[in-house]
Amino acid sequence: MYRPNPYDQPPDFRALADAYIALKPHLKEIRSGVTIDFHDPNAVRCLTEALLHRDFDLSMTLPENRLCPPVTITRILRRVNYILLLEHIVSAMSLAFGEGDRSTIFGLDIGTGASAIYPLLGCRRNKNWHFTATEVDEVCAEYASKNINQNRLHDRITLVRSRPSGPIFPMESTSITYDFTMCNPPFYCDREEVLRSAEAKEVGPNAVCTGADIEMITPGGEAGFVRRMIEESVHYPNRCRWYTSMLGKMSSLTELVKILHAKKIQNYGITELVQGTTKRWVIAWSFTDAHLPDSLGRIANPALQTIMPSKNTLKHTIPFITSEDDIHIKLAQILTNVEGLKTRPSKTSGTETESPPGVIIEAIGNTWSRAARRKKLTATSQRGDSAGQSVPQLVCHIAVNSGQDKAESQRSVSQRVELIFQWLRGCERTLFESFVSHICRKVDSSLSTSDAERMDIA
Ligand code: SAH
Repeated sequence: MYRPNPYDQPPDFRALADAYIALKPHLKEIRSGVTIDFHDPNAVRCLTEALLHRDFDLSMTLPENRLCPPVTITRILRRVNYILLLEHIVSAMSLAFGEGDRSTIFGLDIGTGASAIYPLLGCRRNKNWHFTATEVDEVCAEYASKNINQNRLHDRITLVRSRPSGPIFPMESTSITYDFTMCNPPFYCDREEVLRSAEAKEVGPNAVCTGADIEMITPGGEAGFVRRMIEESVHYPNRCRWYTSMLGKMSSLTELVKILHAKKIQNYGITELVQGTTKRWVIAWSFTDAHLPDSLGRIANPALQTIMPSKNTLKHTIPFITSEDDIHIKLAQILTNVEGLKTRPSKTSGTETESPPGVIIEAIGNTWSRAARRKKLTATSQRGDSAGQSVPQLVCHIAVNSGQDKAESQRSVSQRVELIFQWLRGCERTLFESFVSHICRKVDSSLSTSDAERMDIA
C-alpha cells in the first residue's frame, strides 16, 4: 500500500482518556494494560467520539434510526485510509500538472450519510479542501447539516439534496470542477444481501439493520450504483480529475472494469484499503491524460491481475556497478541530447513512496527514435494541438535510486543503481515506453563504453 495509516497501531486507551475525560469510566484493566469493552455500544461510541475529538477535532451528533455510523475504530480508520488515498491522488496530480500548492481543492462526496464523515475528516486534515456533499435521505441530510455546522465547516462544505431517481453527480446544479469524487456505497440489492454482508459480519446484523432501506438498498447493489456513476461521468469528462468509489465486494471490481473498458476509459486505477482483517477496494477513473503512480493505482493481489491497469511506473536496474552521482551526470547528458525535450528538477520525491527526488521531462513528441531522427522532426512540426500551442505529449518523472537511504556524501559509492520512470501525463502509452527504453539503452551503453575506456587505460 501507498503509505501506512497513522492509526495502524491500536490506540493507547489511557492517553486517549486523558485527552477525552468521558472515556475514563469505560476503561478496563486487563493483564496486558488497559482496554474498553468492545461489546458495550456506549463504550464503543464513546471511543469513536474520543478518537474523532482528539485526532481530528471533530464532534458528532448521530440519529439512532439510521445506518450505523462509524462506530468501530476499524470503520473510522478505513475512512481515514480513503482520505489518505485521496490526499495522495491530489499530490500526484499536483506533480503531474506542475501546480505546486493550490489554494483550493474541491471534493465531491456522494451519499455523505448522517455523519458527513468524509467531508469533515477531509477538511480537518487539509486546510485547502472544500466539499460538496450529496444525500438523498431527509434524516441523514438533517444530521449531516448539524454535524457540518457544529464543527464550524459550513463555509467549506455545501450539502446538496439529491433524488434517488435523479442524477448522482450534481454537475448541473454547481459549476465547480472537482479534483475528485468519492463514495462509500454500502449498497445492497435487497435486505437479504444486507444480512449476508461483510458489514453485518463486522458490526453485527442489528447494527446495520438500524439503517433505512433508502440508505442501503439500490438496484444492482454497489456495482449497479457505481455503474451509474461511470455512465454519468462520461458526460462530464472535464468536470472532475478523478472519479472514485469504494467497493465492498471484489466481484464488483471485475464487473466495473468491464464497463470502463466498454466505455473506452483506459485511465483507471484499483487500490486496496486494508484495515485489520477487512479489505475494501477503491476504483478510480479519469478522462484526463494524467496518470496514477502504481502505488496508488495497482495492487499485487494475484486474483486481480487480469483486471489491473497497465503499469505507469517502470524500473530499470543498471547492469553495471556504478554510483548514483555517475548516473545523474550521464542521465543529464543523455537528456540534453534528446531534441526538443524540456527538463526541470522535481523537488518532490515523485509520488512513488520509494522514489527519490529526480527530474521531470516534457516531450512534445517522439524525437528520439531512429525513424524520428531520420525524418528530422522538429519541435515545431511536432506540435499536436490545433491551436498550435505546445502541449506536451509525454510528461515523465525520472528518479535514480540505489534502494538505500543515504547521506549526500554516500551518493558517489559504487553499487547497483535503478532508474525509476513514472508516467505523469500523456495519452500514448507507446510513447512513454519508447522513451523509457531509449533512455535505458543510452545509459547502459554509455556505462559499457566508460567501462571499456577504463579497461583500456588500465
Ligand atoms: N458516507 C457515509 C454514508 C455511507 S451510506 C459513510 O461512509 O459513513 C450511503 C449513503 O448514501 C446513505 O446515507 C444514503 O442515504 C445515501 N444515498 C443513497 N443513494 C444516494 C444517491 N443517489 N445520491 C446521494 N446519496 C445517496
